[in-house]
Amino acid sequence: MPAGHRVRTVFVGEDRTQAKVVIVGGGLAASRVAEQLRRAEHTGEIVIVSDEVHLPYDRPPLSKDVLHKDSHDFADVTLKPREFYDENNITLRLGSAATAVNTEASTITLADGTELGYDDLIIATGLVPRRVPSFPDLAGIHVLRSYDESQALRREAGSARRAVIVGAGFIGCEVAASLRTLNVEVVLVEPQPEPLASVLGAQIGALVTRLHRAEGVDVRTGVGVAEVLGDGKVQKVVLSDGTEVEADLVVVGIGSRPATDWLEGSGLAVDNGIVCDNVGATSAPHVWALGDVASWRDATGHQARVEHWSNVAEQARVLVPVLLGQEPPEAVVVPYFWSDQYDVKIQCLGEPEADDIVHVVEDDGRKFLAYYERDGVVAGVVGGGMPGKVMKARSKIAAGAPISDILG
Ligand SMILES: Cc1cc2nc3c(=O)[nH]c(=O)nc-3n(C[C@H](O)[C@H](O)[C@H](O)COP(=O)(O)OP(=O)(O)OC[C@H]3O[C@@H](n4cnc5c(N)ncnc54)[C@H](O)[C@@H]3O)c2cc1C
Repeated sequence: MPAGHRVRTVFVGEDRTQAKVVIVGGGLAASRVAEQLRRAEHTGEIVIVSDEVHLPYDRPPLSKDVLHKDSHDFADVTLKPREFYDENNITLRLGSAATAVNTEASTITLADGTELGYDDLIIATGLVPRRVPSFPDLAGIHVLRSYDESQALRREAGSARRAVIVGAGFIGCEVAASLRTLNVEVVLVEPQPEPLASVLGAQIGALVTRLHRAEGVDVRTGVGVAEVLGDGKVQKVVLSDGTEVEADLVVVGIGSRPATDWLEGSGLAVDNGIVCDNVGATSAPHVWALGDVASWRDATGHQARVEHWSNVAEQARVLVPVLLGQEPPEAVVVPYFWSDQYDVKIQCLGEPEADDIVHVVEDDGRKFLAYYERDGVVAGVVGGGMPGKVMKARSKIAAGAPISDILG
């Protein structure tokens, strides 16, 4: 068992394969847990409750292909076809938000007032994109988290002339790349010194700036958006340095917050996400959480919430056996995420931090490879358009190898 994993003794050896599992959330985490429970021979009832009307779908394409490809089908992004849920006897309650949980009675309440009992409750409600409260209510202002939001943005991008993107995080940068592919002029506004600086550091951020400038993006760093003006529809954006930018589209990409409002009054511990131990157990018995909404205790004892795709799969791999009263797999997991911007896949392996020492070992003016050093060891690797070389560093990162091992 991975160091520090705690399996609730009440479960071990107990046959939990018939427990009724209710999963709140209709995204990757929900779909993965349901699928893996069935694969692990769980035969009890499984119900997925989602506030979206769509089948569970994958979000990464929403800021990439779905936004800029000429045509696509919703089936391209669904995680599993409807028949999968039918064949596996997984009940989908779509378009049905959970509004409350009663952990004493082991029930949740849905928006239409229905109460649903559970033996085990899994919370996988993801995130809510942040908006700027001071922005007026104008057409042309978008956020991007859901399929419907992606479709709405795509529709307007088709006829837009110039977009201002507020925030150069991963979503902002990917939207910038997609809009450029659609020939929309893009002004990317970021208060930090460089895009992605708080995650990957300013040195790699500068390489990301270079990539976007080469594609014609007007990258404005060290400045924010003060005001959005228009008459029914966006017409102008005023930056914090007083500069005015004519625009007919504004995309707000300033991050998201955990979707936990519905848990108010439930007694569940929430602190920047649902507080969980290192196997996904929350502060209430038989209530679990995973994915973007969950703050799991990591190997060093810290609470950490991760907003990346592969983390969901890793957490599902741990949680599902625990739910069934079994021990979680023993594995050294090297965190991974990616971001596609133009033809460059940015990949990050390990846990690089903005204040690590960054060694850029390859740079051809567009593609790059950098190792991150902390306390003399390889903390991570970040590559732009260097997939093979990024993956090659996995064993060194997993072993906590000295940086000299990899720099050669
Ligand atoms: C545009 C975009 C691009 C991304 N690109 C990448 C990428 O390139 N690489 C990468 O590593 N990661 C990427 N990610 C992150 C990745 O998609 C997430 O880590 C993953 O989707 C998390 O899955 P989840 O199931 O925890 O949450 P989600 O996928 O957000 O699913 C949560 C679901 O719960 C529903 N819900 C919320 N509240 C309730 C309620 N009260 N009742 C019922 N249902 C509710 C939501 O509507 C949603 O359907 C991207 C995310 C986005 C939004």
